[in-house]
Amino acid sequence: RWEQLTPEKLAQTLLQADDVDAQMAQLVRLVEFSEGERRLRHLLVTLFQEVFSEFFPACAVLPFGSSVNGFDVHGCDLDLFLDLEKTKTFQASARGVGLPQCRALAPVPFPVCQAEEEEAGPEPDAHSEDSILSDIDLALATVPEVLELVATVLRKCVPGVHNVQAVPSARRPVVKFCHKESGLRGDISIDNRLALCNTRFLQLCTEADERVRPLIYTVRYWAQQQALAGNPFGGGPLLNNYALTLLVLFFFQTRSPPLLATAARLRELAGRCFTVVDGWDCTFPRDSARLEASGNTETLCSLLSEFFRTFGDYDFAGTVISLREGQALPVPSFLLSEAGTRLKLGPFNLQDPFELSHNVAANVNEKTALRFQRCCCEAAKYCRSLQYQRKSSKGKSWGLGRLLQPGALEAREPGAAHCHITIPLALAALPAHSRQQLCQQEQTTAKSKQSLDQKPTAQAPHGSEGPLDKPRKEQMPAGFEGLPDPGTGKPSPAHEEQPTASSKRPLDHREGDAVSPACKRLKAEGALPPLGDSVTWSCAVWHRVWLGRRRMRRQLRSPEPHPEQEASSLELEEKVSEAIALQEEGGEPSRTEPVLRFTACAQPGGANQQDTRTSLLLSPASEQTGLFQDFAHFLQGFLPRMVERYLGSAA
Ligand code: ATP
Ligand code: MG
Repeated sequence: RWEQLTPEKLAQTLLQADDVDAQMAQLVRLVEFSEGERRLRHLLVTLFQEVFSEFFPACAVLPFGSSVNGFDVHGCDLDLFLDLEKTKTFQASARGVGLPQCRALAPVPFPVCQAEEEEAGPEPDAHSEDSILSDIDLALATVPEVLELVATVLRKCVPGVHNVQAVPSARRPVVKFCHKESGLRGDISIDNRLALCNTRFLQLCTEADERVRPLIYTVRYWAQQQALAGNPFGGGPLLNNYALTLLVLFFFQTRSPPLLATAARLRELAGRCFTVVDGWDCTFPRDSARLEASGNTETLCSLLSEFFRTFGDYDFAGTVISLREGQALPVPSFLLSEAGTRLKLGPFNLQDPFELSHNVAANVNEKTALRFQRCCCEAAKYCRSLQYQRKSSKGKSWGLGRLLQPGALEAREPGAAHCHITIPLALAALPAHSRQQLCQQEQTTAKSKQSLDQKPTAQAPHGSEGPLDKPRKEQMPAGFEGLPDPGTGKPSPAHEEQPTASSKRPLDHREGDAVSPACKRLKAEGALPPLGDSVTWSCAVWHRVWLGRRRMRRQLRSPEPHPEQEASSLELEEKVSEAIALQEEGGEPSRTEPVLRFTACAQPGGANQQDTRTSLLLSPASEQTGLFQDFAHFLQGFLPRMVERYLGSAA
């Protein structure tokens, strides 16, 4: 698959193109099927059709997935759907006229069986005509039974196929196989009609606009290089190609003006030809002539850059991306919808455009979601540079060349390890007492800043703490008071306010007034959206309270289910932090230095002005990025949950 394209060959080809758009076209040309490869797949499908028709009269073998959806790549797997609907009808009518049930299945053609048996080893009864004959009633048979039968037919009757294995436990049960001569791997499923539909949907999108294919190939390749997508063995916490493709399609839907129509709009354009599959509305025009032209004129170069910018700062956990509506729906309102009760929410929520209760990225874990965001952020920064936009006159790597080199962007910025967290709480919507404190805090801003300016580092330099300065509740940033502190066990977040020389208040500022240098820098880099007022804290973590937290929680939680468990969970978290801190100190004298320091910059709004949540950007003190990433990963899950509980108990 992608491996067949060597980095050297790709780099060479990309160097020669004139602009980024041409580079994308070259990338597609390098990886898409050759004519021979397309023909081989066609022949294989024909062979499968012939053989299976012998055993399952009136069946249909239908390719789907990347072999036919417009996103073919050398050596990608061959996804086949064995449609047995008509075979079932055939069986039913055969039964009606008194034919024996098993006649739906024909005997094994001996010469083929023999060839396969030599490889597979002797099997009892292998040469008997009955070895594949079955009394199975397809209408009543279980999926594993039918899969086993399909596997047997493949093993014994399809020449050149080996490594056949039924996988009945997969979300979509399949029989896996390999074509010996070409090395082509494939899956046959018997219960995946929706995939036929979404395959046609992807095809339609590629027909709608010629920019769709190159951009999706580029994003897929980039994600593969960054180890964000495309586990060749399937499963795991990475994005699969289908999910990644949908994400780019969603991006196209949300451009202004849109480059692609939403699934809801496509449904309207389909007229009265309704298609319902497995109970889901899959109505959309089968003919691209029915589609409306897009007024969008963006170049591929700019679209790619915008893609990274958009998803570098995206709330994947707090929203559900809907291709049906062409919008990201906030989780609370999505939960009120019919599909909301069934869709499996996670760190990355991407709703299938047809099977609305299916999160196609449900397998993605927090770490991958976070890395995806971070990699987009890095890529967005690179895309703002001239190196991306202009061909090098000195023959240096430029445009996609640099972007698609594994690790190149990381090497460019070794310290880049910001972490974005969106918490479901507007700064302005804090409970009254906290709001009051926040106001006081804002009033003291000028004073704090002044004192800091006057005594910059002499006694208690900004960002340093002695043991006596270990965080205490009354030093908490007002906006976070009352939240459990995973760093210290105190009721505040771990990223504790660093007392300044005089005020022991956070470094606070208003946009355009007294903006901290860290925040200024982050905004200049585009890492922080330039919205509204913001507050910055310099923080320290004294204990690795993210380690062993679950176990400690189990130990401390009362064995009897507590009726007010939700309300008491904040206290529980506090106790967990304290216990871990105690355990970690283990009788040793207290530390004189925190284990980790970082800056937290909070500002209202997530991605836009209407957003009523708070966006937190955490940045590690240099040289601490490894530890910081562990901590940030923990905090990304922990903090929004705790804020929700805090709000719940405050209400
Ligand atoms: P490739 O094989 O190159 O990774 P693909 O699109 O064929 O790309 P597969 O994982 O082989 O990806 O899946 C085959 C098809 O099955 C997809 O094209 C899509 O139609 C469907 N599919 C895959 N994953 C999902 C999913 N999570 N939800 C719904 N349909 C899916
Ligand atoms: Mg596939």
